[in-house]
Amino acid sequence: AQRLAARRRQVDETLSPFRLSQEQLTLVKNRMSAGLEAGLRCKGTSSVKMLPSFVYRTPDGKEQGKYLALDLGGTNLRALLVTFKTGLQQNTRMHHKIYTIPLEIMQGTGEELFDYIAYCISDFLDYMGMKKAHLPAGFTFSFPCEQTAIDTGKLVSWTKGFKATDCEGHDVVEMLREAIKRRNEFDLDIIAMVNDTVGTMMSCAYEDPQCEIGMIVGTGTNVCYMEDLKNIEKTKQNISKMCVNTEWGGLGDDGSLDDIMTPFDIEVNQNSINPGKQRFEKLISGMYLGEIVRQVLLDLTRAGLLFRGRVTETLKTPGMFQTKYLSQIESDRIALLQVRSILQQLGLNSTCNDSIIVREVCAMVSRRAAQLCGAGMAAVVDKIRENRGLNHLNITVGVDGALYKLLLRFTIYFSSLNDLIQSNLALAPQCDVTFLPSDEGSGKGAALITAVARQKH
Ligand code: ADP
Repeated sequence: AQRLAARRRQVDETLSPFRLSQEQLTLVKNRMSAGLEAGLRCKGTSSVKMLPSFVYRTPDGKEQGKYLALDLGGTNLRALLVTFKTGLQQNTRMHHKIYTIPLEIMQGTGEELFDYIAYCISDFLDYMGMKKAHLPAGFTFSFPCEQTAIDTGKLVSWTKGFKATDCEGHDVVEMLREAIKRRNEFDLDIIAMVNDTVGTMMSCAYEDPQCEIGMIVGTGTNVCYMEDLKNIEKTKQNISKMCVNTEWGGLGDDGSLDDIMTPFDIEVNQNSINPGKQRFEKLISGMYLGEIVRQVLLDLTRAGLLFRGRVTETLKTPGMFQTKYLSQIESDRIALLQVRSILQQLGLNSTCNDSIIVREVCAMVSRRAAQLCGAGMAAVVDKIRENRGLNHLNITVGVDGALYKLLLRFTIYFSSLNDLIQSNLALAPQCDVTFLPSDEGSGKGAALITAVARQKH
């Protein structure tokens, strides 16, 4: 029993840096606030990039017509045909098809990547029988882009495992138009280039006019919100707001999160394809949480605290512990025996005690992710409240991404996020925040942005 208690203490010690205090979370909130301000001042060069989206308003329900939406975000490309009807029978109809992006295309040349996208569009138009339609299209491209108009955007840098050459610094809408020309089979009128956060916000705003923030927690994490136009550019125009893509995943790239990073986070960052970049994202999103857990398990095993001290090949293999196992293992609905059988499938022979520890590691890592996300969100809602000179702000956040939707602990901590933002941690006590999961967010959102942008033409 004494040995067990000593072992317990050692495990607790290893996990303690994942336990963030209220002070630490407040610091993260304050750094995010500073990041938002710095990004607005120097556009694109600071760690939180604050990229203008050229989307000036949320939908008003009068949108109509047929649109093609393309969504290139993380693991796959989706093509959608979206139809909006107004009037008494206001409704949205959507058809879609999903194409996986082979790794050699993700990491090949830019021309190959865009030729592949053009091939997918061609296949989809065939499938819908709309090859001749010359549709207006919105292109959801969920990577940091410097936009100078709604339909131009230079890729700043790839994230989330993409590495295709000759894309960074280039206008991706132009690259898509050229690929379509090369294919010479169909015409598209690409009207809008859309970040997935903006698409999510728009699709949720279609249901709830109070929605002025979009958040994604999937492969990566990011947020956009409606910012006062005067804070973005000098303007004499008659419009007052513009949606800003914060690219908040870059917080900490200047070292400002170093004090909360654990040795495990440092390891994950160093082993990633973009070391030093997207530090905040690497503490939160699906591409990394499994890897963080694996690093912790590796450390505990090496210290003889887990798996009888046996470091297996699986445990040493990057990517072997996927984030979806995290959500299976930490689920309260499954018994410890099932946790052991999941570990067994991963080639890890566990005792009952091991499975308790593994579950705890998973819970700690996903709780921290949710809390950090909450601290960041507190900065965003407070900024909006201050912009508007309000004592109290009611606002809705449109949300998408597998982590928000599937990772239990994340959802639990997130549903108490309102508490977190408000009373518990008093991170943004004067804001009432509602989270609205988006339904088919970025596709429908891209179509809505295209429709809104076209109304101006
Ligand atoms: P994307 O962000 O690429 O558009 P998703 O929102 O589906 O797509 O997120 C994919 C990420 O979610 C991957 O990193 C994957 O590991 C993770 N993931 C997939 N299924 C689950 C799950 N059940 N629980 C937690 N994470 C998951």
